[in-house]
Amino acid sequence: MVKIIDVKHLTKAYGTHLNQTKVLDNLSFSVDKGEFVGIMGPSGAGKTTLMNILSSISLPTMGSVYIGGQDITRLKEKELSDFRRKKIGFIFQDFNLLDTLTTKDNILLPLAIDKLPIEEMENRVKRVAELLGISYLMDRYPDELSVGQKQRVAAGRAMVVQPEVIFADEPTGSLDSKSAAELLRYLAELNLHQETTILMVTHDPFTASYCNRILFIKDGVFFAEVVRRGSRKEFFEQVIDMQATIGGGGRTNAF
Ligand code: ADP
Repeated sequence: MVKIIDVKHLTKAYGTHLNQTKVLDNLSFSVDKGEFVGIMGPSGAGKTTLMNILSSISLPTMGSVYIGGQDITRLKEKELSDFRRKKIGFIFQDFNLLDTLTTKDNILLPLAIDKLPIEEMENRVKRVAELLGISYLMDRYPDELSVGQKQRVAAGRAMVVQPEVIFADEPTGSLDSKSAAELLRYLAELNLHQETTILMVTHDPFTASYCNRILFIKDGVFFAEVVRRGSRKEFFEQVIDMQATIGGGGRTNAF
């Protein structure tokens, strides 16, 4: 198996030397190419801090983060912007779509910045739109879309660059359960058929049940891991049990 993400002794501390808080404390883990991994843990565990470091938005205090063989904590500004544009895609809770652009142009945007040939851009947008079931929305503006549709457009924009890794931070956070299930099915399909590695932070066991493996963190350290071996429903039960063990989160009736 090829390790696509390899995090070694990651520490993030805030404050002064005498009064230091370690938000992440010597965290190490790796993710193989093609995995769909969830990150869970109670509020304040350090999940967002971790995602920000992995997606090169912020730097660790100590430790290294290899993505596709490159230590991203050591890249220069120009290499970093290439890395962000070509190797990774983001899906956030609040979409970040541009209101003045149509669905098609929102999805095209990252490719236009890279000046890809027009035919290649058109083909890629078409494929992503088909995969996400949004071909019929291409000429609409964000304010003409439902919340679930917006999130699929945002997912399309992340996928169109054909990134090695997609980072998703609470991607179903503002979706109703039907739209959430739809988005997760698309993500699972992308993961399966295009071998795109996905790393997703979520607090929701139903969302997490689409992953193959969940890493639980608490107080900035690795707490436990749950690997899916049977059905999604069984995995969902395992995730809930682990959430109860770690504290924070109760049973829901998603199934
Ligand atoms: P989670 O996403 O798991 O809820 P976060 O990564 O957002 O957790 O935060 C983890 C801890 O780090 C929290 O206690 C938070 O208050 C603290 N923290 C986050 N950013 C900063 C910062 N810039 N300065 C000081 N403390 C911070």
